[in-house]
Amino acid sequence: MKISRNGTRPSGIGAADWFTGTVRMDPLFQAEPPAQAAGALVTFEPGARTNWHTHPLGQVLIVTSGLGRAQRDGGPVEEIGPGDVIRFAPHERHWHGAAPDVAMSHIAVHEALEGVSVVWAEPVSEAEYSGG
Ligand code: MN
Repeated sequence: MKISRNGTRPSGIGAADWFTGTVRMDPLFQAEPPAQAAGALVTFEPGARTNWHTHPLGQVLIVTSGLGRAQRDGGPVEEIGPGDVIRFAPHERHWHGAAPDVAMSHIAVHEALEGVSVVWAEPVSEAEYSGG
């Protein structure tokens, strides 16, 4: 058994290349081979969201607080809130983020395939974010 203590995992900021707005990343656990799952707590300030992206082995989001939005390519913009668990299939193009006026935090769990757990694409436009 190993306990990773609170205070040993410094917060980071989501890179502007991959996110719109202010996003805080709190790492929770890294993949430890042969296991491939990794997890992070991600907090989006109001209006903040990921770029469009895919995960080679998919992803699970567990919303822990606030109010957010998520969309798969070709689907509607969905409102997501605390207790919602969202799964994206492998290679399913999508984005996730906060509501326009309310922050949102989720735990994200994903697995790496040959060291890659996310493939980034372009930013989500204001029109896409608004569901327009
Ligand atoms: Mn994702």
